Amino acid sequence: MRLLLLSLFFLSCQSYKSLHKKAIVIDTHNDVLSSATMKGWNIENDLTGKTHSDLARFKKGGIDVQVFSIFCDERFGKDTAFKYANREIDSLYAIAGRNIDRMMMVSNPSQLQQAVKENKLACMMGVEGGHMMEENLSYLDSFYHRGVRYMTLTWNNSTSWATSAMDETTKKDSLPQKGLTTFGKQVVQRMNQLGMMVDLSHVGEQTFWDAINTTTKPVIVSHSCAYALCPVFRNLKDDQIKAIGKNGGVIDVNFYSGFIDSSFQQRARAFNREHRSEMDSLRKLKWVNYEIEEYLLARYPKEAGSLQPPLSLLVDHIDYIVRLIGVDHVGLGSDFDGISSAPKELKDVTAMPLITKALLQRGYSKADVRKILGENFLRVFSSSQTH
Ligand SMILES: [Zn+2]
Repeated sequence: MRLLLLSLFFLSCQSYKSLHKKAIVIDTHNDVLSSATMKGWNIENDLTGKTHSDLARFKKGGIDVQVFSIFCDERFGKDTAFKYANREIDSLYAIAGRNIDRMMMVSNPSQLQQAVKENKLACMMGVEGGHMMEENLSYLDSFYHRGVRYMTLTWNNSTSWATSAMDETTKKDSLPQKGLTTFGKQVVQRMNQLGMMVDLSHVGEQTFWDAINTTTKPVIVSHSCAYALCPVFRNLKDDQIKAIGKNGGVIDVNFYSGFIDSSFQQRARAFNREHRSEMDSLRKLKWVNYEIEEYLLARYPKEAGSLQPPLSLLVDHIDYIVRLIGVDHVGLGSDFDGISSAPKELKDVTAMPLITKALLQRGYSKADVRKILGENFLRVFSSSQTH
């Protein structure tokens, strides 16, 4: 009996590992390019203990396609944001150029398939924040021609043409306008024409609806979760999730503890109270909130550990979206290296196979797991390319 159980256990281990290996695994959002570059670290080196990701660990985690986030925050704007974004794009091309044996820049689905066939990391780029195009459609075109295949209409900061979830929630009635302006709609239309996916993570509800009503192509939500399970400002409400289903798009779930666990905020507030004086002094040094949170959680690993939810809560978000709109509209957008806390089991990108295991344990078929791991995003990417 014991031998039988052991061999069954061994077989199930093998099957999730081999499924993960065979499937096209796509992560639609990782910030390591911008966050490591800012700290002077190079993802060609082993950054274990410092970051969630580096080249060797992408391989270990079975990631076939990584969309690298091109990002700078609201401290960049006119005359600086576009330039800074291009520096990040330059650095990704440089890294890929030095590692042609294990990386390939891809800008269409057939190149993506070729990279997977050659067992190389297919590298894509998404610009996280419309402020980087500096209100200039030529800059948007330029991003496209450099290989960028999605743009998140806003980050936490609004632009003059689109309001963010953060601002629509916290500034409410003081905003001069909400949603997309006429120029904002032109941006969406231009993205449709170019073949650049419209990403609706981070955007306010009004911007979401204006964009959904303007786009002629399926959209993505590259790193967000379900509001019903975790009511935070930038998770998706049920009517938004249903609209993505109707649109044919895909919602890639974010691994951030604060977006998947509804009790996280309360525990995080207690943590913040403990460390208020340190927070205040960092604020005086002009650090912004996400930098302070990342610093403090790294400094106090034991307390940080108590803030982490189990992986099952992340899978609950996948289940929830599947129950509302079916299995064709959900994927993975880890936000690794842009988040300071993730489920206990997901210490870094090498833990990705555990998601495959958890999905199988929840009863998903192998075909459905493959859809969630990457095929759904690939479908939306392919449809963005048709004119
Ligand atoms: Zn983000």
